Amino acid sequence: MSQAASFKHAKISVDALNGDEHPEALFPVSSPGKPSIGQNSHTRFDVLRNTWTVYATGREDRPHEFIEAGVTTNKNLDCPFCCGNEDQTPSPTWVGKVVRTKDSAFRIDTNPDDKQPCDPAWTVRVVPNKYPAVDASPFPSDSKTQLPLALSNSSPLFPSSPVFGGHEVVIESRRHAHSLTDVSITEAELVFRAYRDRLLHFRNDPNVKYANVFKNVGQQAGASLSHSHSQIVATNQVPPMIEQSFGRMKRHRASTGCCLMCDMVREERRQKERVIARDEHSIAFCPFASHLPMMVRVTTKQHQECFEDLDDQSLRSVSRMVYRVIGWLETLQPGAAYNYYLSTKPSGIEDSSEAFHWSIDIFPRITQVAGFEWASGSMINPVLPEFAARQYRYRAIAEDPRLTL
Ligand SMILES: [Zn+2]
Ligand SMILES: [Zn+2]
Repeated sequence: MSQAASFKHAKISVDALNGDEHPEALFPVSSPGKPSIGQNSHTRFDVLRNTWTVYATGREDRPHEFIEAGVTTNKNLDCPFCCGNEDQTPSPTWVGKVVRTKDSAFRIDTNPDDKQPCDPAWTVRVVPNKYPAVDASPFPSDSKTQLPLALSNSSPLFPSSPVFGGHEVVIESRRHAHSLTDVSITEAELVFRAYRDRLLHFRNDPNVKYANVFKNVGQQAGASLSHSHSQIVATNQVPPMIEQSFGRMKRHRASTGCCLMCDMVREERRQKERVIARDEHSIAFCPFASHLPMMVRVTTKQHQECFEDLDDQSLRSVSRMVYRVIGWLETLQPGAAYNYYLSTKPSGIEDSSEAFHWSIDIFPRITQVAGFEWASGSMINPVLPEFAARQYRYRAIAEDPRLTL
């Protein structure tokens, strides 16, 4: 499927510009005279830059723990993510608990009963975001009346559409932890089980075309609350950048018969310079063209399209590798804010060639995106990936020589 074909409104806008369709039939608009409420999210497509932007004005009201740059405050010690404050968040969609029996290390409730009080001994909870960037699926049938009035002035040059799917928060600890490394390695594995189960849930939703997982730690990384958490956003549209990347993977698969990521991992292992650590299932390396300093990519050595299809052993390996990478990062850059994001195959792109390969990118926030980067879309990276890999590798060897080359 072409990029334009899967981004419905981008395709329509091109047709409309060619005069093939009447613009009024193309873009959802609010009814004239209806008040502009703007509670439901919508996207606007920039036909010049081939990007879409999500407008979610309701998020302005969300609590923000970080008030001034460099100043961390917690005026409201009643953290909504801490145990005992479960009533401050919506009912969970997933609850997991570390248990220690001979059969299993975890007990997971993927469909918690709203009527039952939350198990006070939970370890990881997933709840709908109280201030969602993307509304839950399905989008309300009367949503058009709630879109901003500006959309009633839509034209082929200004494509827009409602965006929906879901936005959930993965609360990674019942304690007021700040980073994933503040929880135990077993609890971190449970967090990754939550990712897997919730991504599976969204993949099974026919309205959802794309979902990702991301984590922001620290104000510089975009966190609004310090309690360690990650987020899952699902949408009914595939972002153009994701579609372009998938297109390159498909072309590589078609021309070589191989997965592009598998080939890159093979070449990294052959060159060795940027590989940090590996175990039986997963590998961590600094990609050759990392666009951010000290960025690390974790993926499986065996080809795997979707993170949500990882078996338990691979999932454990991946969760432990990510946990260790963050630990090494925090040793090298004490106190640094960091992000990671998980890329898995978008369910909205049809591909029978198995061209996609999932990955997680982890990076500290030690540089600012400035004028050149915004203007050109090209980053300036002051740290060579080879140097970054050496720094990480020293930490990895010190921790466990068996993990390295
Ligand atoms: Zn807390
Ligand atoms: Zn692969």
